[in-house]
Amino acid sequence: MAAQYNFRNILGIDPDDTSFTCAGTDELHKPPKRCQNQIPVEDREVATRILNEMDRSSICDDTLKLLPELVSRTLCTESHRSKPELCQIGQVYTEWRDTVRDHWTLVKRESSKKSFERWRLLKVKDALESMRAVVEDEKENDVGAI
Ligand SMILES: [Zn+2]
Repeated sequence: MAAQYNFRNILGIDPDDTSFTCAGTDELHKPPKRCQNQIPVEDREVATRILNEMDRSSICDDTLKLLPELVSRTLCTESHRSKPELCQIGQVYTEWRDTVRDHWTLVKRESSKKSFERWRLLKVKDALESMRAVVEDEKENDVGAI
């Protein structure tokens, strides 16, 4: 079964939204705030496709491989993608990579919790079945006695 995640929520970006702005931080602003520069529509479309692909994936490394492209498509060309002194590609990539890894750690933890629960339920079921067998046996013996 394909996993269903929402990397738009996980990363806090929504390039499908026409008012989507650069994922970088305007550090010249005091206090620093989210950059308000628009992202060209073709970059937003590529970012949307990448996010859809990440949502469909159930493999951590596959989603990490898509990140560099996603980062560069969601940073503004005016400052945060291209100007060497303002470039935030490395910074945003590191942040998102850690966020994506944390997400997969959680997913793994959840699934091992689930398989442990399943194993425990099977044990309980086995125990109940052997108890039932004992009860059935005794019932038969009772009937035999009458
Ligand atoms: Zn920007």
